[in-house]
Amino acid sequence: MKLSRYLHDSLDALGIGACEYDAEMRAVGWNSTFLQLFPEDEGVIYVGEPYGDNLLRFYRGRLPPEELPDIERHVSEGVARHENQTQPFEFIHHGRRLRASSLRAPDGGRVRLWQRLDVESHAETAPELVLPIIDALPFIPDGATILDTKERVIAANNAFRRLYDLPRGRPVVGRTLNEIIAWCWRGASPAGAWRAAISNGLRYDGVPFEIELPGQRWLRLIARHSTGGLSFFTHADITVAKRQQMELLEAQEALRRANAALAELAETDGLTGLANRRRFVAGLADAVALPQPLALMMIDVDHFKSINDRFGHLVGDACLKVIAEVVADQVRPVSALVARIGGEEFGILLCGLRIETVHEIATAIRRALALVPWQTLHAELTGVTVSIGLCAGEGPLDGTSLHARADDALYAAKRNGRDRIETASRQATPQRIAG
Ligand code: GH3
Ligand code: MG
Ligand code: MG
Repeated sequence: MKLSRYLHDSLDALGIGACEYDAEMRAVGWNSTFLQLFPEDEGVIYVGEPYGDNLLRFYRGRLPPEELPDIERHVSEGVARHENQTQPFEFIHHGRRLRASSLRAPDGGRVRLWQRLDVESHAETAPELVLPIIDALPFIPDGATILDTKERVIAANNAFRRLYDLPRGRPVVGRTLNEIIAWCWRGASPAGAWRAAISNGLRYDGVPFEIELPGQRWLRLIARHSTGGLSFFTHADITVAKRQQMELLEAQEALRRANAALAELAETDGLTGLANRRRFVAGLADAVALPQPLALMMIDVDHFKSINDRFGHLVGDACLKVIAEVVADQVRPVSALVARIGGEEFGILLCGLRIETVHEIATAIRRALALVPWQTLHAELTGVTVSIGLCAGEGPLDGTSLHARADDALYAAKRNGRDRIETASRQATPQRIAG
C-alpha cells in the first residue's frame, strides 16, 4: 500500500474518499469514505483488481439501459482518462456531487481522491435545466432543497442538513419534507402543526411560512414552484427573531394586564372594593342613553360623623365596609351598578326594574342593616341606619337631572327624620329627552 493507513484515516476524517492504483492500474488500497461514496465496491473490490473491472461495475450502475450495449466503450474511454488525467473534475454519483482528482505517482501508479461537494442530489431525476441550480445550492447561505413532482427531495445543500440537525448518515434525497421533519420531532411534535404548514407551502407559491422544530427552534420556509412541477425551497433559521417576537408579545400581554389592572383600580373604591364615583358617573351616562327602565338609589349613612367621633375613624371605616357588603348582597340578584360615590354615600344604578321592585330592594337593605351585629365593631355601637332616595325613569334620559332627582329624594328622607326611603314623585321624574 503506497499511502499509509494513517493517511487513509486522515482523509476519512476530512470526508475524502481515496483509492490507490499501481502502475499496472490495479487496486492497491482504499479508505472507508471511498466505500461510502461508491457502495457498489463494498465487499467486491479487492487488492489487485484491474481498474477496468472497477469501471465496469461503476458504469453498470449508472448507464441508462439504452447505453448499456456501449458499456465496453465507456470503460475503455474511462481507462484512457485514468491514464491521462491531470485536472480535477466533477460528477454526480448516488445523488452526491463529487470532485475527483487523479494524480500520477512517481512509480507510475495513481492516487484518486474524491471530495464530496456541499450538496446532495438525485440529479438523474432532475431535468438538465436544474443541474446548474443544483450546482449553485452550496453557495446559498440558507438551507435549500429541490423537490420533485412527488414532493420528494432531489437535492439539498449542507445548510439544510445543519438546520434540521440531520446526521450525515440520515438520508435526505428521496424523502419528503414531511418525513424529514417528522423524523426531527420523532413523534414528539405537540400538534404537528408543521404538517399543515408544509402542505400550505406546497400549495401556495412564494408565501413564507414558519415551522417549529424541537428545542424551540423556528424556520421560515418559502417555496417556489416551477411549471415543470419541481419545487424550490429555502429554509432560514428565524429562531432569534421568533424568540424576540415572543418576548415582545409576552411583554405586551403583561403591559395589557397591568393596564387593565390600573384601569380597574382607577374605577374601584379602595376601602369597600365597590365601583367608585368615576365608574358610577360613566355607568350612568351609558345607561341613560338606552331605551330602558332605569332607577337610581342613593344611600347616605345617618349621623355618620357622630359614629366617627364616638368610636374613631377605624370603626367608621369598618361600618362603611359592612354597609357596602350588605348593599352588594341585597342587589346581587338584579343587574345593578353599586358604587361608593362619596364619604358615606352609596349610589346604585338599576336597569330594567319597576320602581316597586327597586323600593323592595331598598327595604331589604334597611332590614339587613338592622340585623347586622354592630357590637362586633364596637361594644357601644348598637345600630347604624341609612336614608335612601329613589328615582326612576324610562331611557333615554338626562343623567344629570336623574341624579339630581335621586339626591332630592335622599335629602327628603333626611329631612323627614332619616332611617327611611323616599321616592321622587312622578311629576318630579325627569322629562324624557328626545332620543
Ligand atoms: P347625616 O345623617 O346628615 O348624613 O349626617 P352625617 O354625619 O352622616 O353627615 P356629614 O356629611 O356631616 O358627615 C359625614 C362624615 O363622614 C364626615 C366624614 O368625616 C365622614 N367620612 C367621610 N369619608 C369617610 C371615610 O372614608 N371613613 C370614615 N371613617 N369616615 C368618613
Ligand atoms: Mg353624606
Ligand atoms: Mg350621612
